[in-house]
Amino acid sequence: MTPALIIVDVQHDFCPGGALATKRGNEVADRIGALQPSYDTVVATQDWHIDPGTHFSENPDFVDTWPTHCVADSFGAAMHEAIGPAQAYFKKGEYTAAYSGFEGTADGVPLAEWLREHDITAVDIVGIATDHCVRATAADALAEGFTVRVLADYCAPVDEARGAAALEELEKAGATIITG
Ligand SMILES: [Zn+2]
Repeated sequence: MTPALIIVDVQHDFCPGGALATKRGNEVADRIGALQPSYDTVVATQDWHIDPGTHFSENPDFVDTWPTHCVADSFGAAMHEAIGPAQAYFKKGEYTAAYSGFEGTADGVPLAEWLREHDITAVDIVGIATDHCVRATAADALAEGFTVRVLADYCAPVDEARGAAALEELEKAGATIITG
């Protein structure tokens, strides 16, 4: 069985012009949009905040605290228009910081459970940001026992050096990092 594609947080607020933009967000969104038709199973995660406590800060450090972003039902929380439809959208972070897509649920079903129900054993992970939500989602996918590939050129970091470090860390943890 081919891997499922997990598209992590490719939302307006994480792309140029958004509240918490990554430099390469639009470019990565376009690439993912072109890639996704080659997968039979595609799911997406969305940062989806209502009142996430100290995750939001007026003086963010951009490591643990952030400017207000991805407020539930806002334009900033919507998927980038380059991304085609997914079979399910896993929303996370309503009342707390949630970096991993595996903290998300779609109609009450957690991501790991959904994947198992669909007989998925391997996942390809793409999206934003390499050093935060991609990293956490890939680490949890490994912990949940999935075979994990991270498609590095389809991921955008907040910080290039931290993004590269995250990929190294994931490779050591058992993920395959694909470039190109
Ligand atoms: Zn957030």
